[in-house]
Amino acid sequence: MSSSKKPTRVTPSRAVIKISGAGFGGTDPLEPESIDYILDQVNQAREGGTEIALVVGGGNIIRGREQKVLSRTAGDLAGMVGTTVNGIVLRDKLQSSNVPVLLQSALPIDRVTDPVDPDRADAHLRDGGVVVFVGGTGNPYFTTDSAAALRAGEIGADLILKGTNVRGVFSGDPSEEDAEFLPELTYESLVEQALGIIDVAAAKICQETGIPMVIFDLFEDGAATRALNGEEIGTYVYPEK
Ligand code: UDP
Repeated sequence: MSSSKKPTRVTPSRAVIKISGAGFGGTDPLEPESIDYILDQVNQAREGGTEIALVVGGGNIIRGREQKVLSRTAGDLAGMVGTTVNGIVLRDKLQSSNVPVLLQSALPIDRVTDPVDPDRADAHLRDGGVVVFVGGTGNPYFTTDSAAALRAGEIGADLILKGTNVRGVFSGDPSEEDAEFLPELTYESLVEQALGIIDVAAAKICQETGIPMVIFDLFEDGAATRALNGEEIGTYVYPEK
């Protein structure tokens, strides 16, 4: 169960924002308005002075376990390449707004990305740039939530923001009326109750690194910035100790 003591929300100096593929588009995998909206949210978040690294999902392009054409592992490979497509889009857009960007991939795609290198990422973030991490974990059977958890640990982020299409974590299916919104809970309880909004592997890594997470509605304008300011927005997930 979640601890009864209300946790103090972290105001990070460095944060990882996980942007799911749904943020880039829907029916059309890449929708200009959606992408401009994401860019705006990232730029707003940077204005407060927090160092920002992004971990990009790929569900708008392909999800290994949902597609019906490829084997699971080939589908996952394609999914990871899909995250790279989104990363290329973000890099291009950020560079157009004069933000220095490093695109680092856990899956080697040499011509378009650099390999994941926490030291280089650290230096780039200190210099005021944005690092975009793609390629997930580089392994099948994982999701980009786990990648966000891993990269946050490696670059010493103080907070992970996970943008979704709901307000945060609910006690059941958010579309059901009796589902209760949970403003905060521990990773332990998230895993125990199998609430499903982040994958268990990611929650376990965050328990290990001790980095809290805010799960918030990416489509609420300014929500990421408010979460970075420690405002009570979304669901705050934190390690027991
Ligand atoms: N994926 C993978 N390993 C990883 C991360 C992602 O195989 O470490 C694949 C997997 O098929 C996944 C797809 O890439 O479904 C897109 O990632 P994800 O589902 O996390 O994207 P999101 O739902 O955040 O858009």
